[in-house]
Amino acid sequence: MMYFAGIDVGSTFSKAVICDENGKVLGRGMLRTGADFKERAVQVLDAAKADAKLPEDAPLKIIATGYGRNNIDFADGVMTEIACQAKGIFQSIPKAQTIVDIGGQDNKIVFINANGLVERFIVNRKCAAGTGAFLEEIARRLDKELSELAEAAQKGKGDRALSSYCTVFASSEVLDLLRRGVDIHDLARSMFLSVVARVMELATFGDNVTLTGGVVANNPIVADLLREKIKGDVTVPDYAQYTAALGAAIAAKEQFEKQAGDQQ
Ligand code: ADP
Repeated sequence: MMYFAGIDVGSTFSKAVICDENGKVLGRGMLRTGADFKERAVQVLDAAKADAKLPEDAPLKIIATGYGRNNIDFADGVMTEIACQAKGIFQSIPKAQTIVDIGGQDNKIVFINANGLVERFIVNRKCAAGTGAFLEEIARRLDKELSELAEAAQKGKGDRALSSYCTVFASSEVLDLLRRGVDIHDLARSMFLSVVARVMELATFGDNVTLTGGVVANNPIVADLLREKIKGDVTVPDYAQYTAALGAAIAAKEQFEKQAGDQQ
């Protein structure tokens, strides 16, 4: 039996997924990325192996993806996060769609066709506005857990995103509004609305939107707000933070099958 691993070394979180020869997911692992990409990749892979109950010497083919993918010298190959997102999503949701990935430090929009092929993509890497870092920074300035703010936002009212675009100014704006007595629930809703606004500025979405990444996986309010704003279907897959790692594991499986086929 051969096993396949995808390791997604993201700017903020590293994720690993292990699947078997049938593409069934056996285990997952996740840790904050920190400074050492390779060390973290080893650790998330070990965590996924433990979750899958794989023996240490189980034969494994590995594809690395994400921001730190080129540092993972023990991988059998690398693939872009765009290609891996498309693969990971198309396997469970096989239709033409727009994938919107809200990550730690960037947002990506990937348009895939009815065959699962990437037609075009947009990446926002210019600044942290509308990313996970934006939310984390505001939570830090408010001395709250981000999950607490996501919960508070569910009870918030109104439809006003923060007026500041920049993360630093938005944090100050939130503190200022709080000191002036604006309700924390409404403020929390405004900050999540800002994320949705930044993402919607990047492109016009198609009818079927699938949301991925850590922000969406951990803060259901983001999908709820986007549903209020666009006409099409908005889907959040299970394990939405692991979809690129899953796509990388599938890519490892496909490459192995192709090589085996070529040798016959
Ligand atoms: P990347 O792949 O770019 O490293 P991820 O897709 O893993 O990013 O998403 C990271 C973001 O997810 C963080 O910046 C944070 O906003 C959000 N996040 C991660 N874990 C949690 C959590 N437990 N609660 C709330 N938000 C979280």
